[in-house]
Amino acid sequence: MSLRPHYSPIERIWLRPFGVSQSPNTLKSKAGWKNDTHRQPYKKGERVLRWYELLGWGLEIIIALGSILFIATSLKERAFRAGLLSLTVLGAVNGIFIFLLLYLEEGRKEGIISLDAILILLAVSLLAPIGKKLPLRVVAKITRVDERDIPFSRIRYEVGSAIYEHYYASHPEIKGIYDRIRQLPGLAAPETPAYSPLGAPLSHAQFDFLEELADLVNAPSQKQQVKADPQTMSAGLKETIKYLGAKLVGIAELNQDYVYTHIGRRPGKYGQKMELTHKYAIIFAVEMDYRMLRAAPDLPVIIETGKQYIDAARIALVIANYIRRLGYPARAHIDANYQAMLPPVAVDAGLGEIGRNNILITKPYGARVRLGMVTTDLPLLTDRPILFGVQDFCQRCRKCADNCPSKAISSDEKKIIRGIEKWEFDPEKCFAYWNSVGTDCALCIYTCPFSKPDNLLHRAIRYAIDRSVVARQLSVWMDDLFYGRTPRSEAYPKFIDLLRKEV
Ligand code: SF4
Ligand code: SF4
Repeated sequence: MSLRPHYSPIERIWLRPFGVSQSPNTLKSKAGWKNDTHRQPYKKGERVLRWYELLGWGLEIIIALGSILFIATSLKERAFRAGLLSLTVLGAVNGIFIFLLLYLEEGRKEGIISLDAILILLAVSLLAPIGKKLPLRVVAKITRVDERDIPFSRIRYEVGSAIYEHYYASHPEIKGIYDRIRQLPGLAAPETPAYSPLGAPLSHAQFDFLEELADLVNAPSQKQQVKADPQTMSAGLKETIKYLGAKLVGIAELNQDYVYTHIGRRPGKYGQKMELTHKYAIIFAVEMDYRMLRAAPDLPVIIETGKQYIDAARIALVIANYIRRLGYPARAHIDANYQAMLPPVAVDAGLGEIGRNNILITKPYGARVRLGMVTTDLPLLTDRPILFGVQDFCQRCRKCADNCPSKAISSDEKKIIRGIEKWEFDPEKCFAYWNSVGTDCALCIYTCPFSKPDNLLHRAIRYAIDRSVVARQLSVWMDDLFYGRTPRSEAYPKFIDLLRKEV
């Protein structure tokens, strides 16, 4: 590079990385510069980065790699708003850091050290264990639920039947609500927006199939018992269940507080006392396809729900049969034939936490799962509940409540419900919406920030959420910024278009 007495401001900026300084005074004050009255660049290879500059560049490289990961993941997920915003916002952030690293002139050392310190402080505040992670609090004896009181039972009581008269005589307060819900079109019904003549029958076929499976949940076990130690058996069962298609598996001692008191849903068994005395619950989660949920609350959602319930039923039925063949009693709990509430059992077994939306939130898949369960007396080792910051995150987030079209999810503080301090949920409002829109909606699953696909980017974010209250608050803001407070329904897999074609 030739010697030049003067550089324009623009030239000075561009030449700075090559060692050209802005003012003679600065030139003189820096070690390694040739004397003198000429503004002279370093010779090639002569410039040496100081430790604080190296640290600054190291941090900037980490930020740049994180930004590239965010942009690439957003585009791969076809989250175009996130992709576009991350290109501009993260591009600007990186640009500012690079500019500061290159061109902080006056007080350069102090400036770069301050920048390093801010970045390190930010990283520590995101990754250090800061803030408490608390579980849902049980503050009184838990009141058990009667299966006759859940919406799926209440809706089945045929108007004028003995069961209808019996049930609503003792529950007059909700009779009007269910009489109104019965007037609505129903799931996958022709009058609903989700209906299509080729698509809706698929959903009906799935749930018909599940009804046919519902009577296969139990049978006598073989007399001859195969002996295996609980540790081997537990590990083997978990791996087998994953091999069969589940993503998460846990084992808990079955808490009788979560067993329904009476049967409400099985034909011919209405009002019978629920008998479930098995000691252990093996509970597992199958993953719902994020692409299908992006269409919430439209047709793909109910098709995906049906598919995952069938998968969960298949696994539960096989495993229950398998355990019975080993000589131990076992019962599968599948859609349309549960004897207990699965989400709290899943919490006991370490699969996740219950969120504001009253759904199980798992760490890798958020609310985007369906559960299946096998109860048994086969001796097993149990797992422990886990905490990864869901209660604190939900306290700040409220996204499901804001996006719930029926306002079934509370935006308020927790209340004591059946002995547990948790967020209120109105199942009738939710169920009425399903029956008017024609699907099981799932907006509270799709919009939950935890439900994003399980990839490197979202795993890193969940790791930080697990560790730090700062990360939790920042993630709530960032999710709103990049994905929108009200995320749009986005493109779903192409084959659905075939099912939506007019005939
Ligand atoms: S499924 Fe839909 S209506 Fe029901 S709680 Fe979730 S968002 Fe609300
Ligand atoms: S959307 Fe937000 S508030 Fe609702 S369950 Fe998910 S994290 Fe909690």
